Amino acid sequence: MQSRLPGVVWPAVPGQQGLLLAALLKQLEQSQWLPAAEIEQAQIRQLNALTEHARRHSPFHAGRLAGLPPDQTQGLREWLSAIPVMRREDLQKRRADIDCAWMPPEHGAVSLAQSTGSTGEPVAVRRSGLNGLIWMAMTLREHLWQQRDFSQSLAIIRAQFATEDTARRGVSSADWGPPVNHLFASGRSYGLNLQTDILRQAEWLRQIMPAYLLTYPNNLSALLDLAETDPDQLAGMARLKQVRTIGETLHDSLRERCRRVLGVGIADVYSTQEVGVIAIECPQGGGYHVMSEGLVFELLRDDDRPCAAGETGRVVVTDLHNFATPLIRYDLGDLAEADGPCACGRGLPKIRRIRGRERNLLRLPDGRRFWPLVGAFGYRDIAPVRQYQIVQRSLERITLRLAVERPLSTTEEQALAEKLVEFLGFRFVVDFDYCTPDIPRGPGGKFEDFICEM
Ligand SMILES: [Zn+2]
Repeated sequence: MQSRLPGVVWPAVPGQQGLLLAALLKQLEQSQWLPAAEIEQAQIRQLNALTEHARRHSPFHAGRLAGLPPDQTQGLREWLSAIPVMRREDLQKRRADIDCAWMPPEHGAVSLAQSTGSTGEPVAVRRSGLNGLIWMAMTLREHLWQQRDFSQSLAIIRAQFATEDTARRGVSSADWGPPVNHLFASGRSYGLNLQTDILRQAEWLRQIMPAYLLTYPNNLSALLDLAETDPDQLAGMARLKQVRTIGETLHDSLRERCRRVLGVGIADVYSTQEVGVIAIECPQGGGYHVMSEGLVFELLRDDDRPCAAGETGRVVVTDLHNFATPLIRYDLGDLAEADGPCACGRGLPKIRRIRGRERNLLRLPDGRRFWPLVGAFGYRDIAPVRQYQIVQRSLERITLRLAVERPLSTTEEQALAEKLVEFLGFRFVVDFDYCTPDIPRGPGGKFEDFICEM
């Protein structure tokens, strides 16, 4: 632990944020091992406090919660199933009604968190200092679960860094920044904007030689493409111990490729701007644990019943600590696959994998909808494609959007179309759309390799 008090080195005395985080982490260390039923009991107590507040101060929730008994004693699932699900659309159209007119001032300053959907339907949620604190605690928990060596260097390639500043050289910092520096001494960290050309990214990594890399899955994929084409470009990633991914759906194929090309694993974090950290990977491997101390997580089937292990459903969350814009049974628009109890012994529920945006399901004329596993589409074996994106706009046609190293021949286009059709399992007519230099990212810097725009 790192001391924040001038003149004190040992024993460490953290600052205000550090003290709060230490108090939370100590509890999280214990609560993760509680039996699932005890975790649910604790969630019910917090839900009672949240719904009581929402009933009084949010007109939207007052209506939705009107029929519920004020103090809840029945099981968590039964109780929740009596509350209608909130949607993104509610936040877009009725936020003035959802926001609470009052909240405990002790929850801290309120700021607006903007979430940008890939097709540009932004939603805004008010979040308090308390929400920020919980977010930081879960982020620290993730570092601790993954047993990262804070004394090592960290490279971050993400959307937050200003382009002008980082286009040439990136930014650097004496430590890993918050939340790590609230409690721990750490090595240097470096930041580069996600929009930076991939060759420049590789060069920047060679200058830093980081132990850890934090970036988006599609950016990692582009770095791996580069390393596979030109092994010299691997140099900057030679000392990596682990890659941490955020922001986009991570396909299993990328995990395998990262392991094969770089010899290291990926630790993925599932989070959104609206609710913070939702789930992190089990340190024993094979799936994600839900952050139940911060939110109630439900996976619902099409008939609104909870998913059994192995089933895929809609992610519906209740943020237990947002008293500014209460999100009670909020449908995030994501899909995930349920899992049973984890072999590691933690009582926190488990998700097998996160599937991504619900709207990005492939639709077939016979009514079937599914995820095209486009992450494994072997386009580079066919043509010098740097980047691809598959867009569905009708039941008959698919657009293959490409950024290429040189113009493709008709034979190459045909081979790509053939492979894609085989991959999708339906004879779509394939249209080509070329982008230079790159395929534009969605708002917020997110990139999705399959988009359904129907
Ligand atoms: Zn586990």
